[in-house]
Amino acid sequence: MTRKKIVLRFPPHVVEQPVIYHLIKDYNLMVNILRADINPRKEGRLMMELSGEDADYRRAVQWLKKQELKIINLEQQISWSEERCTHCGACTVICPTAALNFERPAMTVRFEEDKCIICELCLRACPARAMEALAENANGR
Ligand code: SF4
Ligand code: SF4
Repeated sequence: MTRKKIVLRFPPHVVEQPVIYHLIKDYNLMVNILRADINPRKEGRLMMELSGEDADYRRAVQWLKKQELKIINLEQQISWSEERCTHCGACTVICPTAALNFERPAMTVRFEEDKCIICELCLRACPARAMEALAENANGR
């Protein structure tokens, strides 16, 4: 039995395909969608928990990769270095889920990891290199 939290990144030409339907019907997986950011003709992201038999999960990952979907295994995470952070706020403007936000009344930046969908936008926005990606592609295990 496999149970994994992953993020799927959809390129624009795949966004409108019934990926969830195939995961359930063709690979017998249970799909629990935790967060979705899907827009027609733009890159989309889905955070989900998948569970099912090991072999089915491995076959599903192979199929997802063939569809040109990027799979990020959430056993790895985005990390925030409090020591490096200068609380400039640049990341709070671009973070789509407000995982990086200002804590009032001190107005210091905090990182709420459970809201993070590993979009990696903050990596490019942070001038202090306080954000790091520890995520790796899922390998189907
Ligand atoms: S990767 Fe960065 S910008 Fe993206 S959701 Fe997580 S904290 Fe926010
Ligand atoms: S952009 Fe970097 S330095 Fe600025 S508040 Fe965000 S994490 Fe801190």
